[in-house]
Amino acid sequence: GKGLAVFTSGGDSQGMNAAVRACVRMGIYLGCKVFFIKEGYQGMVDGGDNIVEANWSSVSSIIHKGGTVIGSARCMDFKEKVGRLKAAKNLIERGITNLVVIGGDGSLTGANLFRQEWSDLLDQLLKEGSITKEQREKYAHLHIAGLVGSIDNDFCGTDMTIGTDSALHRIIEAIDAIVSTAYSHQRTFIMEVMGRHCGYLALSAALATEADFVFAPEWPPDVNWPTRMCKKLEQERTAGQRLNIIIVAEGAIDRDGKPITAEKVKEVVVENLKQDTRITVLGHVQRGGSPSAFDRVLGCRMGAEAVMALMEATPGTEACVMSLDGNQAVRLPLMECVEKTKAVAKAMADKQWDLAVQLRGRS
Ligand code: ADP
Repeated sequence: GKGLAVFTSGGDSQGMNAAVRACVRMGIYLGCKVFFIKEGYQGMVDGGDNIVEANWSSVSSIIHKGGTVIGSARCMDFKEKVGRLKAAKNLIERGITNLVVIGGDGSLTGANLFRQEWSDLLDQLLKEGSITKEQREKYAHLHIAGLVGSIDNDFCGTDMTIGTDSALHRIIEAIDAIVSTAYSHQRTFIMEVMGRHCGYLALSAALATEADFVFAPEWPPDVNWPTRMCKKLEQERTAGQRLNIIIVAEGAIDRDGKPITAEKVKEVVVENLKQDTRITVLGHVQRGGSPSAFDRVLGCRMGAEAVMALMEATPGTEACVMSLDGNQAVRLPLMECVEKTKAVAKAMADKQWDLAVQLRGRS
C-alpha cells in the first residue's frame, strides 16, 4: 500500500485528535501503510521513534481529548534546508510520500515548500548516497493535504477551522459563570478572549452571552469609544440590569492601530462610572478541555476527505487544503488560501479593515 503519514504542527486545537483518527482509519481502510509523526516537523526531522506505524486501534479513545495526542512543536530545523533533507530521508526510508499536515498557515506553508522542493531534495540525497536510484524513482512525488487546526478561525477559504467551536464553548461557559457572580455584586466584567487578529471568537461570544460591548480587531472604534461605551453601560444599568459584560479581543485596536487592552477599558469604566470592575483573561483555558461535537465531526470529515484527496492525487496535483464551504467538505488550492490569509494580515496592518473583512470571506 501507499505510505501515508499524519502529523500536527503549530498551535494545538480541539478536534485535532478526531482528524488524526479519521486520517489513520481512512488510510488503513483504503489500503495504505499509515504512520504518525510525533511532535510535528521536529519529529519528521529527527526520525527514529518519532515516526511510528499506526494501526486501527492506536487511534481508539482519543476523539474526546483536547489538544493533540501525537504532540505538536515549533521547529526551527525544518525552516533550514538541512533539516528538510533529513526529513525527506526519514520519509523515503519508510516509503512515505503522502502527508496530511494539521496546523495553521505557517505549518501549511512549510508543507507546500517541502513539496515544491522534493525533487531537489531527492537529487541531493541520491548524490550523497543516502537513497538508492530505485528509491529516487519510486518516491519521486510528494503529495500534501492540509487541514486547518486553529481556535482563531482566521484562515481564508474555510468557514470554520478545527477547534474554533470548542474554544467558543469554553468562552461562553466562563462568561456564564462570571455572569452569576457579577449579578450578585452588581459588577462589570471585562473578558479578554483569544483570536489573534481575528475577531470571530470575540464577536460570537458577545452575541452568545448578550454582552454589552465588544472590541474586535476588524472593527476598530473611533476616538469617542469611551463616551459611547459608558453611555451604553449606564443605559443598561438604568434599565435595571445589575451587571455589565465587555468582551475585548486580544488583538483589539483603535483606528490608529493602537491596542485597546482590558486594562485600558477598565480604566475608562472606573474613571467615568465608578463601577466595581474586574478583568478576566481567559488565556489557555480556551484551548483546553474536550472538543465540541461540531469540532469532532469537522475533524472526522476533513481527515477522511484529506486521505481521499491524497489517494486521488497524480504527479502534477498541487497541495490542497480541506475546507468547509457551507456544509460541504471541499478541496481548495493550499497556497491560494495561504496567500489570501496573508493578504488579510497585510490589510489589517495597513488599516484597511473593510478590505480585510471582505478578503476573509465567511470565516
Ligand atoms: P502555525 O502552523 O500554527 O501557523 P507556525 O507559524 O509557528 O504555526 O508554524 C509551525 C511550524 O511550521 C514552524 O515551527 C516550522 O517548523 C514550520 N514552518 C512554518 N513556516 C515555514 C516556512 N516558511 N518554511 C518551512 N517551515 C515552516
